[in-house]
Amino acid sequence: MTEIKLASEIQEVISSGRILNVLVVDDSKVIRSAIREILELGNIQVTEACNGKDALELIYNNVPDLVLLDVVMPGMDGISVLKTLRKSYSKFQLPVVLVTSLGSSSEIVQALDFGANDYVTKPVDFDVLWARVSNQLMQKQTAEYLRLAQSNLEKQVKQRTAELNTSNQQLKNEIEVRLLAENQLQKQANYDELTGLPNRSLATDRLYQTLLKSKRHNLKPCLAFLDLDNFKYINDTFGHAAGDELLREASRRLTECARESDTVARLGGDEFLLILEDDRANNSGQLRETGIRHIGERIIEAFSAPFLIEGHELNITASLGFAMYPKDGDDSNKLMRHADVAMYRSKNEGKNTFCFYSPEMSAKAMMRMNIESQLRQALENNEFTLHYQPIVDSKSGKIVKAEALLRWDCENLGMITPDCFIPIAEETGLIIPIGEWVIETACKQIKKWRDSGWIDLCVTVNVSARQFQANSSLVETIRRSLKKNDLPADAIQLELTEGVLMKETESSAEIMALLEDMGIKLLIDDFGTGYASLSYLQRYNFDSVKIDRSYISNVLLSRQDEKLVKAVIAMAKSLGMSVVSEGVESKGQLDFLIKENCEFIQGYYFSKPVQADEFLTLLKNMNELKSRVKPLKIVSGRA
Ligand code: C2E
Ligand code: MG
Ligand code: MG
Repeated sequence: MTEIKLASEIQEVISSGRILNVLVVDDSKVIRSAIREILELGNIQVTEACNGKDALELIYNNVPDLVLLDVVMPGMDGISVLKTLRKSYSKFQLPVVLVTSLGSSSEIVQALDFGANDYVTKPVDFDVLWARVSNQLMQKQTAEYLRLAQSNLEKQVKQRTAELNTSNQQLKNEIEVRLLAENQLQKQANYDELTGLPNRSLATDRLYQTLLKSKRHNLKPCLAFLDLDNFKYINDTFGHAAGDELLREASRRLTECARESDTVARLGGDEFLLILEDDRANNSGQLRETGIRHIGERIIEAFSAPFLIEGHELNITASLGFAMYPKDGDDSNKLMRHADVAMYRSKNEGKNTFCFYSPEMSAKAMMRMNIESQLRQALENNEFTLHYQPIVDSKSGKIVKAEALLRWDCENLGMITPDCFIPIAEETGLIIPIGEWVIETACKQIKKWRDSGWIDLCVTVNVSARQFQANSSLVETIRRSLKKNDLPADAIQLELTEGVLMKETESSAEIMALLEDMGIKLLIDDFGTGYASLSYLQRYNFDSVKIDRSYISNVLLSRQDEKLVKAVIAMAKSLGMSVVSEGVESKGQLDFLIKENCEFIQGYYFSKPVQADEFLTLLKNMNELKSRVKPLKIVSGRA
């Protein structure tokens, strides 16, 4: 039997350590032994049973890998054993090969039907027996392998699925976290944190989309620029938290004024942008403008109610500028620029209003920008000079003071009048260094005049509201300039407009008190043009009031102005203040003012503002001649 080849798979099983076990059931010991010999040669363990009953018992105790079952046995025959076995074990679990002497094929078929896996006939051909046994064992092994492999595979699939589920979940979580972060970023990139409104970047994009749509459908959207008036003042006075709250409330009011389809955005600071969509195609320009005008009125109205912030009732207004597509610009840049220009016009027209863009505005805005940029270099380039206008004592006819008036001869733009550049200097804060220069220069000049004999002469200097703000160096500059030139406090007086009083803050009150302590006299300039209330006049120690030239120029023509000038003079006197009249151009005006006991006269009647050396000539002419009040030849100063 050495030529018997073991199937490689069985060898594998044997080599892997598991020895196969075959139960041989036969009542003939001879046959059992013969079979045992053959199988053991193939390295198979053999158990024997001599009858069916024993066989079953052995099987139930320890299931073999295969049963070789004799059919004809005394007692329980092979077929009965087979039938019993098949109740518990399938053909795959326990292969049974019948050893039979049965001759007819129908009997064999029947045996196979009962669940035999195969058969060998007696007398036994051992080669055939081996072939059938090894074949069955191999099939069983293969089936077992397959089952094992399958269950292994199932296990792996289960494990893999579990792993996949876990990593799927992780992935889902990661995606969720990432989406959240992206949303957050998106929000930060597109929305203003303080107010929750779209920011500049989103607004620019929306405007771009609106214009694309409008081009296609012939719509006329409108862009509005809005800037809060004097917001900085609120921030400086009440603090940033109050400023923030005010901006939030302003955003709420603005949003209420717009429709849902419109965009209200915050560009930064106190600047807002509104994109007002047009929902009706072929709107006539006229109609559209009326609609926008209503929105403008609604917004101004919305700001008219006081803002309740941190227990204070704050009043804040807004200035707006509108630019309409496509009339005022057919791309977003142009529209933005023009809405901004129109907004500036609103500011210049006194704030708390709205304006529509018009092409002339651009030229003005360009000029303003030019002035602003040139102004930044004007000090360095020595482009400023001071001119002096005499202020004459109406009784003696002598010059007692000189008002220092700033002149700017810009290298690139030529002469620019103070009315044009002072507001810009105030807005940009450049008035602080410029104002310092004015004080220093005026002190140097008055020192020269006093040293050359005009010992009582003093100079008045105009100061802006901005110079009265905290941390401006006004008091220090005056103290230093007086000291440097060895001058007493009465050498210089300050002219304040009512604006300084209007913007009354703690710091301006403090600064005024400090100036008073130093002995610096204060004068209210342009009296009658602002809204200064009488209470301001009482609260601060003003030395004089300067009546605005608009009243003087009409004093002989308008009964109203005549009454007003008389009233101001009477009021000033009763408060112990002296009166200066500016803008006096004629003998008639002068006579009227002398009759009304106005102490000081300033105006072209005596002289325009002139350079320092010309002023000296005026001094010599008027004061040394001890002239009575009379007109001098008008000197060729630039007004
Ligand atoms: P203001 O302080 O009211 O100065 C008087 C203005 O009236 C001056 O104009 C002066 O030239 C002009 N004026 C004087 N008499 C007559 C007259 O009889 N007829 C007419 N038509 N005008 C007369 P100016 O120099 O153009 O100054 C304009 C304003 O600019 C000043 O008004 C003042 O508010 C401001 N300003 C000038 N210099 C300074 C400065 O150094 N600092 C500040 N903060 N403001 C200044
Ligand atoms: Mg003045
Ligand atoms: Mg004035």
